[in-house]
Amino acid sequence: MEDILPLLRVTGADLAALYAQADAVRRAHCGEAVPIRAIIEFSNQCTNDCLYCGIRASNPVPRRYRMTPAEILAAVRQVAGAGVAGTVVLQSGEAPGAGDDQIAAILHDIKAVFPDLAITLSVGNRSRATYATWQAAGMDRYLLRFETSDPDLFARLHPACTLAERLQCLHDLQDLGVQTGGGFMIGLPGETMEILAANLLLCREFDFDMIGIGPFIPNPETPIGEQPNAYADDPDMFFRAIAVLRLVNPRAHIPATTAFDAWFSNGRDLALQRGANVFMPNATPGPLRQDYQLYPGKPCIDEDAFACARCVQARLRALGRPVAAGPGHSLKTSKGSHSDS
Ligand code: SAH
Repeated sequence: MEDILPLLRVTGADLAALYAQADAVRRAHCGEAVPIRAIIEFSNQCTNDCLYCGIRASNPVPRRYRMTPAEILAAVRQVAGAGVAGTVVLQSGEAPGAGDDQIAAILHDIKAVFPDLAITLSVGNRSRATYATWQAAGMDRYLLRFETSDPDLFARLHPACTLAERLQCLHDLQDLGVQTGGGFMIGLPGETMEILAANLLLCREFDFDMIGIGPFIPNPETPIGEQPNAYADDPDMFFRAIAVLRLVNPRAHIPATTAFDAWFSNGRDLALQRGANVFMPNATPGPLRQDYQLYPGKPCIDEDAFACARCVQARLRALGRPVAAGPGHSLKTSKGSHSDS
C-alpha cells in the first residue's frame, strides 16, 4: 500500500515516466502482439440489481433477450471466420437456473466445431459444481470482477451478494484450474485512493491470469446514475491505475477495456500504450447491442456483426502492434495447460 499510493499521485513528467515504465514491463513480459478476445453478449437477462449496471433487473428500459444456442454458434462462426480472435468471451447478465445446462451444451458444441478457439465465460456467481461442469464441457477461462475490494462499498452496490461470496467464486475457479480473470471498476462513488490501492493489491494477491479494470461510467437509468466517478476531475487516474496494475502484475493479461473508450475516444489505444496488452472487440449481433448497455457511451453499438474485427486490425496497425496468433492462453507457467502454444 505504501508503495502504490505515491504512484497514484504522480503528475507531469513523473506520470509520463510511469506510463513509459508500464509500457516497457508490458513489452518485456507480454511482447508486442495483442491477443484478441471477441465478446458475445448472449443475454441481458439478470436477476441481480447491481446499483451501477444498466441491465440490472429493476431497469425496465432494455428489451430482454437471450440468444438461442444456434444464434450463439452462428456468432462464434463469424468470429472464427474473421480469423482475428483466438478467444470468444460469452458474457451475460446473472441468471442462474435452467440456462446453466444450456451453457454447458453450447460450450460443448463450440469446442466440437472450433477446437482451437479458447472460450471464456463471464456470467457471474455460481457454485463450484457448476463451474466444474462448465470446465468439463470446454470452458477454458472465467471472468468475474470483484468490482471493489472494500466490503462495505461492495455491500452498498450489490443487494444480492457479498464480497466474501464473490471472492469465494474466484477461489473456486482458481482451485479448479480454470484460467481466472478478476478486476474492478475505477472510481465507484465512495471509492477512496486507499480503496483503489487495495483493489490493485488484491489483484496481485490472487495472482490472476487476466485482470479487467475500467472506469465507472454513471448510467442515468440506475439508482447511482447521478453520482459522478470519484476521479471525474482527474481522469488520468484511470491510466495511473492501468500502469500500476501492470507494474504489480507483469505477466497478467490486461485488456484495454471498453469503458476506456466511453470516457475518451481513443481511450483503449492509450490503455494499450500504458500497460494493457489485450483487446476485446464486440461481436454481439448488431441489433442486440443497444439492449446490452451497461453504461452510456458504449462504442460500436450501431455496427453490425463482427465489423469490430476490421476496426481492431486498423487500430492496432496504427499503434504498430500486431495481432497475436493462437488462443492467447495465460502467460503464467502453471496455467493454460490445455494450451498447445
Ligand atoms: N453478469 C456478469 C457480467 C457483468 S457485466 C458478471 O456478474 O460478471 C461486466 C462488467 O461491466 C461488470 O463486472 C462491471 O465491472 C462492468 N460495469 C457494469 N456497469 C458499469 C458501469 N456503469 N460503468 C462501468 N463499468 C460497468
